[in-house]
Amino acid sequence: MNAPPARARLFAGQPAAPGLVLGRVVQLANGARTSAPGPAGSERELVQAVAEAASQLRDLMTRCAAEARKILEFQVEFLSDPVLLEPAQEAIATGTDASTAWRAVIDVHIADFEASTDDYFRHRSGDLRDMRARVLALLAGDDIGPLRLPERAILLADDLEPSRFLATPWGTNHAIALRGGSPTAHVALLARARRVPMVVGVGDVAVHGECTAIVDGSKGTLVLEPDEDQVAGFARTRARLAATQIDEAAAAVRPARTASGERVDVLLNIASLGELAAIDPAICDGIGLVRTELLFAQGPPDEESQLAYYERILRWAGARPVIVRTLDAGGDKPMPGVTIDGEGNPFLGVRGVRLSFAAPDLFKVQLRALLRAAAAGNLRVLVPMITAAEEVQRVRALLAQAAAELAARGVPHAMPPLGIMIEVPAAALALDTFAVDFASIGSNDLLQYTMAAARDNPAVTPLTDPRHPGFVRLLQTIVQSAAARTLPLSLCGDLAAQPEHIPLLLSAGLRTLSMPAAAVGAVKRAIAAWPAGGGD
Ligand code: PEP
Ligand code: MG
Repeated sequence: MNAPPARARLFAGQPAAPGLVLGRVVQLANGARTSAPGPAGSERELVQAVAEAASQLRDLMTRCAAEARKILEFQVEFLSDPVLLEPAQEAIATGTDASTAWRAVIDVHIADFEASTDDYFRHRSGDLRDMRARVLALLAGDDIGPLRLPERAILLADDLEPSRFLATPWGTNHAIALRGGSPTAHVALLARARRVPMVVGVGDVAVHGECTAIVDGSKGTLVLEPDEDQVAGFARTRARLAATQIDEAAAAVRPARTASGERVDVLLNIASLGELAAIDPAICDGIGLVRTELLFAQGPPDEESQLAYYERILRWAGARPVIVRTLDAGGDKPMPGVTIDGEGNPFLGVRGVRLSFAAPDLFKVQLRALLRAAAAGNLRVLVPMITAAEEVQRVRALLAQAAAELAARGVPHAMPPLGIMIEVPAAALALDTFAVDFASIGSNDLLQYTMAAARDNPAVTPLTDPRHPGFVRLLQTIVQSAAARTLPLSLCGDLAAQPEHIPLLLSAGLRTLSMPAAAVGAVKRAIAAWPAGGGD
């Protein structure tokens, strides 16, 4: 074994996005954009810079996937909020320059967001820093365009703004190492979605001159000037990962079968139409969950636009089933103007179908659009957060009313099969009491309610272990109850996308799983490997 040269240095940070890259370190001079060079700008220039920043972000939004659009949308909305511009204008009127005034105002909000006990706001403080930097750069006439990285490059920076991440053309040999940051920050979420390996919190790393490095986004490490052994280890792991990716891509387009040849239906979860363009329909047996919250993000869409949206998904799916979930606002999905502010515990409050009942006009528009779409394809309607059998009767009555309204207008429609999300333990234990056509286990919520551990609180994440005997028994009970009445049953929470938990789900008796497209290859391989020794 070779003795490591004295120069090799290992920095342990936190894993933020998996993957392994060896490349040349490219440093991003953070601070240049957060501290504009000297006082700059009049009130008119600030107004123009804010408007230009919003317009650049809007332009970027047209090229982004749904998750990223949500992040940018928040920034665009906040930029047009007078709580930012007005106090800055007042400060400029008393002689402060525009860049100092902008920074002073936005820094107060950044400090508030950072101090919040609510994860939602804490995660957004990075978005505020992003807005601060963009406007300051525009005022100073700085280049805020995309980063242009050479082949095989490790970007080393204090932090990275989400919008700059989104504007940058990332390649398969690029990775990111941040001195600060957090795995839950928005830029980390974007890096995972874009599959750019990322490590955060590597600390005070100083690089002078040319330097190579290895980023291991799964382990959370940065190695500067790796020695021969480390480079050889990198090459071996990289080759193994590449082989796995090839296997997963091949598995994705084959129907899923267990090792003993039993067929498992693999469906997709989608949150927006945009996602479908990049998905090969051959990888799935249908769509098991259309989350409709993003469709409502700009305000409730009218019946015609909802219909057009559902019909486009049906066209993509052909004859295969498409399960559309009615609006599931509330809890971890607040919706301004729709959800109720100030609830002590929003996860146990008016969310999901409870909110739909509280806003019947909104609900009826969605039901009419779904009834019309059902005449055009294999559509099924799924209702979230069902707790009591009476709620299903109420939904059926509203569907009947909506159908009668359409009939009176002479509009073609059809009554779709109606299903429920099993997210509430009481509903799980009493599945036999619900008059429904199918059911889908929402394991994200079912786990949090069963374990009394909030899904958005990292401090209690270890408790949301699906292997807990209580949760396993609950799953078995649901499967047995569905089987006893031949009720079609699927599972569409994050558990279905985690290959390590596939044996648990299959052992419990589940044979229909719904997941994001990116997980299909790995999950189908995990299905093929179960039960261990089953193919012998
Ligand atoms: C779930 O709870 O598992 C689920 C699929 O719904 P969501 O994650 O959208 O609440
Ligand atoms: Mg849920």
